[in-house]
Amino acid sequence: AADVSTISEKTLNSILEKNRTYYTQGKVADYIPELGKMDAGAIAFSVVGKSGKIFNAGDVHKKFTMQSISKIIALMIAVNEKGEADVFNKMGYFGTDRPFNHFSNLETTGKPLNPMMNAGAILTTSLISGEGEKPFLKILDLVRYITKNNTIDYNTSVYESEKSTGHRNRGMFYLMKNNGLISGNEDQLDNYFKQCSIELTAEDLAKIGYFFANQCVRFDGDSAYKNEDLARLIQSQMLIAGMYEFSGEYARTVGLPSKSGVGGGITVSVPGKMGIGVFSPALDRHGNSSAGYHMILDLVKQYDLSLF
Ligand code: GLN
Repeated sequence: AADVSTISEKTLNSILEKNRTYYTQGKVADYIPELGKMDAGAIAFSVVGKSGKIFNAGDVHKKFTMQSISKIIALMIAVNEKGEADVFNKMGYFGTDRPFNHFSNLETTGKPLNPMMNAGAILTTSLISGEGEKPFLKILDLVRYITKNNTIDYNTSVYESEKSTGHRNRGMFYLMKNNGLISGNEDQLDNYFKQCSIELTAEDLAKIGYFFANQCVRFDGDSAYKNEDLARLIQSQMLIAGMYEFSGEYARTVGLPSKSGVGGGITVSVPGKMGIGVFSPALDRHGNSSAGYHMILDLVKQYDLSLF
């Protein structure tokens, strides 16, 4: 395998071009109507390597909504505020064979499987302290901090679109309220919809991947949030459930903690080494970016990045 220090924009460009047409094998998410308007052919590939060096290829300025990738940010805040034991008393550390929006065992044990699927993520956000949209603003601030990008905001059209159609998520919210896990009102669900609508680029995702790969130290070396244990927790959840029911097969082929979102982004942590961010909105049947997955796979093979 090639040495990671030889990764360049040229490397990324050639992998991107090789995998560009994989989007034709997927489909843009349209269950959130506003997401259906995305340009299926858009594609971007970004790496933040050792000492925070950034490499970009493709539609580097193209913004998209982070969707489920926001779940790892919310988890970090909830665990920092409440402690891991409190958060995981209300949900499991389990993997899954179910899609991201499955009710799973909310009707049996009463608790979500993990914080990576919607149910556990909605619960996680409800555990962040503060009235109204305060918990969402904490998530937005942390995304801005990790990416060192204060221009990041949320897309109000995507937010409104999900708020008016997200009845399944609303159903989970009320079932968990009925189970005594959620104590607040629907503002807490709105915070989840807003966090999913945060817009960023593939480069921002690579910086997020880098942050968790490096004990929560930012790409520029800022260590205000340094926390080895928290980084281990979050990467372990990414590994076992970050790609939902595809996570096991993904661990076999890619072998790295990763988190996808239905906006077409995937963030990848290469522990101790680097962060990878990909974007291509056409999704496979599990809700993971089709071209994005194949770009990651090629980079991993070329540089022997799998943990295993
Ligand atoms: N906002 C989306 C939802 O709740 C996030 C899902 C995803 O990215 N997998 O359905």
